[in-house]
Parts: sequence; C-alpha cells; structure tokens
Amino acid sequence: MGLANGKENARSNNGAFDVSKLQKLKSKGVKKTTDTSVVVSKGSKADPKKKVTKKNRVWDDSPKDAKLDFTDPVEGNGNGNENIQVVTADQGESMMDKEEIISSDSEEDEEDEEVGKDSKPDAKKKGWFSSMFQSIAGKANLEKADLEPALKALKDRLMTKNVAEEIAEKLCESVAASLEGKKLASFTRISSTVQAAMEDALVRILTPRRSIDILRDVHAAKEQRKPYVVVFVGVNGVGKSTNLAKVAYWLLQHKVSVMMAACDTFRSGAVEQLRTHARRLQIPIFEKGYEKDPAVVAKEAIQEAARNGSEVVLVDTAGRMQDNEPLMRALSKLIYLNNPDLVLFVGEALVGNDAVDQLSKFNQKLADLSASPNPRLIDGILLTKFDTIDDKVGAALSMVYISGSPVMFVGCGQSYTDLKKLNVKAIVKTLLK
Ligand code: GDP
Repeated sequence: MGLANGKENARSNNGAFDVSKLQKLKSKGVKKTTDTSVVVSKGSKADPKKKVTKKNRVWDDSPKDAKLDFTDPVEGNGNGNENIQVVTADQGESMMDKEEIISSDSEEDEEDEEVGKDSKPDAKKKGWFSSMFQSIAGKANLEKADLEPALKALKDRLMTKNVAEEIAEKLCESVAASLEGKKLASFTRISSTVQAAMEDALVRILTPRRSIDILRDVHAAKEQRKPYVVVFVGVNGVGKSTNLAKVAYWLLQHKVSVMMAACDTFRSGAVEQLRTHARRLQIPIFEKGYEKDPAVVAKEAIQEAARNGSEVVLVDTAGRMQDNEPLMRALSKLIYLNNPDLVLFVGEALVGNDAVDQLSKFNQKLADLSASPNPRLIDGILLTKFDTIDDKVGAALSMVYISGSPVMFVGCGQSYTDLKKLNVKAIVKTLLK
C-alpha cells in the first residue's frame, strides 16, 4: 500500500490531480456480432415516457409496507433471494435531484470563538494584542516549525473524521509546502492561516476537474444509437446492487429507459437479488445464470439493449477483494471487452485506511491486467452507507484523493430515493469541524 505505487496516483507537484492521466476513452468498441442472446428474465419493459410512480403494487414475495432490507445473502448460502424483502418502487423523488444539506452550521469556528472571547470589553486587551503581535511581527516569513503545531492538530482532526492517515499526512505536507516562506497576513493567526489553506486544498480535491454529467452523456449516446453503459465494481457487500437499483430509479425519473445486466455470475443469489430489483422497478434484466463469463454476458446484454432500444445498461459485477487476482483479471476483461461509458467504483463510507488500499489496488490491477495498452480505470465513485457514518465523512476525501475520480453518487439509506450528490462544501466543513 502506498500513495506512490500506482499509475493512478500521479499528481502534479502542487498536490493537484493529474486528471489527464485519468481521461478515458469515450468511443465504444463493441461491434455487433452474430448473436444468440436472449433476455432470459425481464420485468414489463420500461416505458421511457412513464414515471416510476406505480401505486402500491405488491409482488408475490413482498411483505406489504415492508421497509427495504436487502440483506446481503451469506456467500455460498445457496439461494440469496429469501433474504430480500420487496416493497414497491413507488418511493417518491430521488434525492439526487435535491440539494444535499448536511447541517454543520451550528458550531462556530474555534478560532473565531477564541478571538470573539478575547474581543469582549473585559478581555485582557494587552494579552490579546501582544499575542497577535507576536505571531505577526515575530516572524517575517513562515517556517515549517511555525506551522507544525497547527498542522499536527489538523491532521489529528482529519483522522478523527476517518480520513486515511497517509492521506491526512500528505495533505498536511502539501499545505505546509504552500505556506512555507509566505508572510502571515496582518492580524492573522497561524492556525487560522493553516486552516484556510487546508480548506482550499480540500475544496480543490473534492471538486471534480472533469465533471461527468450522466444525463447529458446518455442523451449523447442515444443520438449515436448506442446504449450508455455503466459498470458497477467494488468489494463484497458494499451495496453494489442496491445502489445500482437506486441509480436505475433516478434514471427512470428522468425518463431514461434502463436495462440491468446480471454479470455477477459468481456469487450464489446475486442474479436473483438483481432480478428482484428489476421486477420492482419494472425494468428488463439480462441474465444468463451463473458460471458464464461475465464479460460475455455483459457484451450480450449491451447488444440486447441496442436491439430493444434501452438507453442505459447498468452492469452488476461480482464483489471482489482488491487482491483477488483471478477476479480482478475477469473484471479487467469485462471492461476491456465492453469499453463501458462509465466504470463506477462502489465503496462504503465506513472505510478508513482500507479505502486507500481498495481503490488504489482496483485501479492498479485494472491497469496491470488489461489487455489494452491504454487501460480503462475507475471513472467515478459511488459512496454508500453515508447515512451510517455521522460526521466521519473522511472516506469521501480518501477515495477522491487516491483515485482522482469524483464522487458521483452518495448512497444514504435503503430506499430507492436514497441517492444524493456529494455536497463538497458540507463535507469540507464537517472535515474541519
Ligand atoms: P452488494 O453485495 O455490494 O451488492 O451489496 P448489497 O446491495 O446487497 O447491499 C449490502 C447491504 O448494504 C444491504 O443490507 C443493503 O440494504 C445495505 N445498503 C446498501 N446501500 C446502503 C446505504 O446507502 N445505506 C445503508 N444504511 N445501507 C445500505
């Protein structure tokens, strides 16, 4: 593990991402071949004009008014479907289209509070002025030693928010480098200066350089008469299929016709789990059961989507550990063979240091194991279980930092509507609180 071990980690010296390294091929390489694939199982075909506002339809296997509980079936447990409770897909508007609000206004900045206290008429004015004076006039230019206490405090604060340690360390180093030798502005404390520089750095990192507008890209693909293909990748149990379904739900609300492709041909119960989502959302699913080559299943699914006019294909893949070479090779093949429009890494917001390992190794393996000289890496991140982490929002930062890819979706619950955009301002505020 390490920040400098992957092609994906290349950055310019000022700590910014080298996004050009992560630019992806947009052309699709999949040509129509002789094809015998069939949609083995599908819900009633999606009508792109139809909104997903079906009234309380309850499927056979769905307890009425049940809360969503897509409990992850135990691996190798045979049929995973029995663990899935199904309710209807009528859950209102996806939160993707609402502004995310994370309340973090309540607390004043510590420095402001301190200054505020000192500013009271009864404060010891002399002490306040002399301390300010010391920090301004005592040093002409900031030196590393001046910055260290404030940076150490900031690093610790980031780590309490679940930012991976090496990322917190790197960030502090780059903030130190950006401030060293600079003059402290008048009436400014070192700690405030360091905090402001860190805030700038965090906003810069979390704000995507290259915005990916899925809806725009879907329409562009449609004009070329090609389905827009998204491949969902990640380790086991992070919420891949649940959040794939949430993305489908959001797309349906934008009148985009969606097809699912069941390419987790590895884990028992995975196909059934996806089929349940497809049925509830009333969208077609392409499946070929288990033990088929997922790359081929995906290819056939995309061909089928082109035939039946589905605008988007959401490809579910088997969860895999980042060190599992055979499965990583299979994933690399799937991506190489199908050249999807978007490779979405699904990761839990709960992870701390492991976020770095997961993402850097996924990217590294995709690069190393690809048959292409110009391999595709991860394009974007879907961060799940954001509702369970309170203020420990650090995984968002660690993942973006390590991959250079933006967080495109945030899963924040177990309903189809529980999908949001990342609120960069709120995250930064929470990280520095
Ligand atoms: P997969 O194995 O990666 O496909 O994971 P699943 O989609 O089966 O999800 C695993 C578990 O995480 C299920 O119990 C889901 O309901 C739960 N889950 C998924 N996304 C979220 C989320 O955003 N918030 C919460 N609280 N739970 C989630």
